[in-house]
Amino acid sequence: MAEETIFTKIINGEIPSDIVYKDELVTAFKDISPKAEHHILIVTNKPIPTVSDVEPCDEQMLGHLFIIARKIATDLGIEKSGYRLIVNCGPDGGQEVPHIHMHFLAGGKLGGLGFPQKQ
Ligand code: 5GP
Repeated sequence: MAEETIFTKIINGEIPSDIVYKDELVTAFKDISPKAEHHILIVTNKPIPTVSDVEPCDEQMLGHLFIIARKIATDLGIEKSGYRLIVNCGPDGGQEVPHIHMHFLAGGKLGGLGFPQKQ
């Protein structure tokens, strides 16, 4: 099992966060430093460090990230207007926290690829 991260502490309720969804596979909470009006991290409860560490047995859990991204978009009423999903991988990919997570970004028209510039 990979080392615990700050995200594991959030998932376990050991440090505070604004959790918007949680089930047995994933936890979603607001990013502490939002890059858009809506910036939510959808995190696997299992602490896999990066995409380069995923195994075939993780397939259902990783697919679930998209199911919950869609649910969040629907809950926000933006499933048709759109949003952006980002998964950073490793140092050159800009990943800071070594615990697989999907960034959910939304709020108006987002710019080109990458994190939007928050207005
Ligand atoms: P990465 O660069 O690894 O793809 O993204 C990590 C994200 O985690 C960053 O957007 C950062 O703002 C967010 N983050 C880091 N520490 C915390 C924290 O303690 N709480 C919350 N809610 N977000 C955090």
